[in-house]
Amino acid sequence: METQNELLKAKGDQVFVGTYARYPVAMVKGEGTRLYDADGREYLDFLGGIAVAALGHCHPRVTEAICRQAGELVHVSNLYYTRPQTELAELLVANTFADRVFMANSGAEANEAAMKLARIASPEGKYGIITLEGSFHGRTLAAVAATGQSKFHQGFEPMPEGFRHAPFGDLAALEAMIDDTTCAIMCEPIQGESGVRPLEVEYLKAIRALCDARGLLLIFDEVQTGVGRTGSLYAYQQLGVVPDIMTSAKGLGNGMPIGAMLTTEKLAAKMVPGTHASTFGGNPVACAAAVATLTVMLEESFFSAVNANSTHFQAGLAKMVGKYPALVTQVRGSGMMLGLVLTETGKEHGTPIVNALLEKGFIINFAGGTALRFVPPLTVTREEIDQLLAALDVTLAEL
Ligand code: PLP
Repeated sequence: METQNELLKAKGDQVFVGTYARYPVAMVKGEGTRLYDADGREYLDFLGGIAVAALGHCHPRVTEAICRQAGELVHVSNLYYTRPQTELAELLVANTFADRVFMANSGAEANEAAMKLARIASPEGKYGIITLEGSFHGRTLAAVAATGQSKFHQGFEPMPEGFRHAPFGDLAALEAMIDDTTCAIMCEPIQGESGVRPLEVEYLKAIRALCDARGLLLIFDEVQTGVGRTGSLYAYQQLGVVPDIMTSAKGLGNGMPIGAMLTTEKLAAKMVPGTHASTFGGNPVACAAAVATLTVMLEESFFSAVNANSTHFQAGLAKMVGKYPALVTQVRGSGMMLGLVLTETGKEHGTPIVNALLEKGFIINFAGGTALRFVPPLTVTREEIDQLLAALDVTLAEL
C-alpha cells in the first residue's frame, strides 16, 4: 500500500514544473526545530527551510501575529500606508545603519531593488556591478547574472549586461576589474550557497575602502546572513564594515515570504515614485510576521543564547574534524550558519551523508558541493544539537 509520502510525491511529480530535486517526503507540520511528515514521522530540522525558520517552525508569537493580521487586512497594495509595513520599516531603521526601506517579497527581489538603486543613484554611464566568484544572489535574471557561479547561467544566456565576477579573496583582481562603468561591488559577508564561506574581515574592510576610494557603492547581500543568523541582527554589525545598501529576506518573516532593501537617506532620495514597485511587497500579513519575529529577536539575551549554543555546536563539529580527518577538514561560519567542510574524499559522500541523516530523522543539506550546512532555527536547543552531533558521528563512522 502506498504511504501518504509516496502518494503526495506521485501526485506532485505529475503536476509540478520539475525545477526541484525533492526528497521523497511531504511535510505537514512544524513546531520549533521539529518537522513531521505526512506519515507522522518526526525530524529534527537543521536546515530550517533553508535558513528561514529563525525562531523555529510556527513560533506562537509569529503565528498569533499572522492570524490577527489575516483577520484584519490581508492586502491593499502600496497605494496606501499600512500599520504593519510602517512598524517593520521603523524596526529595521532603528536597528541598522539604514534610514529607508523598500519592501519586496524575496531575496532575489530585494537584490533587484538594490541593483536598480545602485544604478539609478550613480552618475550616468556607471551601471556595472562586480560580485564575487562563488556568490549566490537569487534566480531572477539579473540576480542570476550577478551570481558568480556559471552553472546558474547555463541555458539562460545571454546574461543581462553589466555584471562581472572577481575571484574570491583576491583584492587586487577585484580592483583591476573596476572601470569607468562600474557603480557598485556586491557581496555576501558569508557565502551561503557555495558552502558557508566567510569573507575575511580585513578583506571586507579593504573592499569598503576600495569603494570609498573609487566612488563605488557597497551592497551587502544579507539575505542569508541577516535576521540573527550569524549571531547578531545583521552580520555587518559584527564586522565593523557598513554597506551603503543591504538586502534581507529569508528569516525576516520566519517563513512568511518577505524581502527588504535597506539604504541611506541620501541614496533612497534617488528612488522617486515610478522608479520601482511591487504589488505584494510589504504585504500586511508578511510584515506583521516580520514585526513579531524581530520583536522576539531583539529581546534581551536572545543573541547571547544563540552564540553560546553556536560555540557548543562548533566544538562538537570540530571533534568530527579530529575524529574523521579523511572525510571532514574544517568548521566554518558563525552563529547558526555553520558548515562542515568535506575533504576531496568526503565530497563524494556529501549527498549520501545528507540522505543517511534524513533516514535517521535529521535534516541538513550539502551546500556548493563542498560543505555540510547547518542553518537550524536560532532557537535550537543544546540537547537538539547533541542529538544531531550523535547522529552525524554515527553516519560518518558508517563511512
Ligand atoms: N541571496 C542570498 C545570499 C541567498 O542565499 C539567496 C537564497 O538562497 C538569495 C539571495 C535568493 O533569495 P530568494 O530565494 O528568497 O529569492
